[in-house]
Amino acid sequence: MAVRINHLECKTLGHSWDPIASNRPSPFGEPITCRCVCCGTTRRHVISPHDGAILSRTYKYPDGYKNAERMSKAELRMVLARRIRRGQITRRFAA
Ligand SMILES: [Zn+2]
Repeated sequence: MAVRINHLECKTLGHSWDPIASNRPSPFGEPITCRCVCCGTTRRHVISPHDGAILSRTYKYPDGYKNAERMSKAELRMVLARRIRRGQITRRFAA
């Protein structure tokens, strides 16, 4: 089972959310849609206009993303650490 590097990074380090235009209104509240710049997952929250509570939360994952869920968090971290040590992950920013 292969896990793509960008999926591995998001599963271990968390997504990098970037807000995008919501493609459909909500009758219940204000939609906030974000896309992960690393893996392409999209997240849609619907926010209450009265108190800011999250009324609904949905995710849409790219093909293959769920493969990473077959491994434990510890296994994913070990694979990520090995790939970083081997230089298989390109750093976006210098340390
Ligand atoms: Zn992601």
